[in-house]
Amino acid sequence: MQVLCTPSDATADVQCPVCHQGFRLFWERRDLADQQATLPKILNELREQHEDLAADAAPHPAAPFNIPSWAGQPQFSGAALLGGAY
Ligand SMILES: [Zn+2]
Repeated sequence: MQVLCTPSDATADVQCPVCHQGFRLFWERRDLADQQATLPKILNELREQHEDLAADAAPHPAAPFNIPSWAGQPQFSGAALLGGAY
């Protein structure tokens, strides 16, 4: 399932396992079991963002991004629209 991650320190649904940056999550579907099954993939993706990183770059995008990554504009993704991000 697709999820939109929005960087947020105030209301974080999940934290990066490496740097503890918080993210709000907007899910494509509200099915809880489905969300729980997807959570490890999100943590993996956040971890990987640290791995392919130039030394002085910020690990995570400052703008909302989709997991799994999506070629279109994040605000038009299913997760953004159905999750009520905008
Ligand atoms: Zn991080």
